[in-house]
Amino acid sequence: VSCVDVGIDVGGTKILAVRLEGLEVADTERATTPHDPARPAGEPTADSALVAIDALVARAGAIRADAVVGIGLPGMVARGGELVFSPNLPSASGADLTSSLRVRAPELRVVCENDADCAVLAEHHLGAARGEDDVIMVTLGTGIGGGIISEGRLLRGRSGFAGEIGHMVIDANGPRCPCGSRGCWERYASGAGLARLALEAAHAGRLPTIVARRHGDAYAVRGEDVTAAAEEGLEEAVALMDEFGWWLAVGLANLAAIFDTGVFVIGGGLGRPSTHVLPAVERHLRELVEGGERRGSIRVVPSELGERAGAIGAALVARERLR
Ligand SMILES: [Zn+2]
Repeated sequence: VSCVDVGIDVGGTKILAVRLEGLEVADTERATTPHDPARPAGEPTADSALVAIDALVARAGAIRADAVVGIGLPGMVARGGELVFSPNLPSASGADLTSSLRVRAPELRVVCENDADCAVLAEHHLGAARGEDDVIMVTLGTGIGGGIISEGRLLRGRSGFAGEIGHMVIDANGPRCPCGSRGCWERYASGAGLARLALEAAHAGRLPTIVARRHGDAYAVRGEDVTAAAEEGLEEAVALMDEFGWWLAVGLANLAAIFDTGVFVIGGGLGRPSTHVLPAVERHLRELVEGGERRGSIRVVPSELGERAGAIGAALVARERLR
């Protein structure tokens, strides 16, 4: 048996594992992310990850020693593999899956990386950003994850923390963020950001139809109400999604000013509902970025690999760094 390339994406609620053959997904395993506050961070996750790894390895007719495993994690992943800080998944902060798995299965080779860093590698190799050397992946979930490829290389930074784009401060007096700061980009342009914009708009009387659907309770309005109504074409919802798109473009303009990005790939849980907003985001971006009309078009495109981007990219990281 040749080398078995496994990639695992650990999210707040679910774990997705894939086995990659060449650039094709050959097999998939799913699990629920376990949470047990009585045990050290990462230990329950290591147990679940190992079950998934063993299943994929066994179905490939291989043994653990044949496998290289990449694991994508949400938050600041140090070069040594430790998840040092995860504002949106506090129970995982401090997890060291590389060590936890080494204890359980010493013959396994394991590497951990930030989940959006994994996703950008996947979109770069086989997804929406093929052939592009300057790419930024923006994953919209509870927060905003980021992965940056500049001049063809994944930017990792001094400690491995590069690309935490959700915590760019865009309003120093803005709302509090779970990271401890104020006015981070993800307070505006993530799933949580959309929920906040929707609540504000509902209370300001700008979502009368949606509030009526919630029996007049403005506090009950959720982000999903707005994305669904926008897809129906309800004008007040379309207007709010445009506002959301403007906040998204504000962050992209900052990033483009620094990295001279050619394409932004939008993924994550909110990636699909916001797809119809992307043309407006491109337009806002052109207005906001320095020299917008002179610098050539910057594309803002949906992820092609969807929810599998992180796991596929994690397998690519394992292949690059462990083989
Ligand atoms: Zn923050």
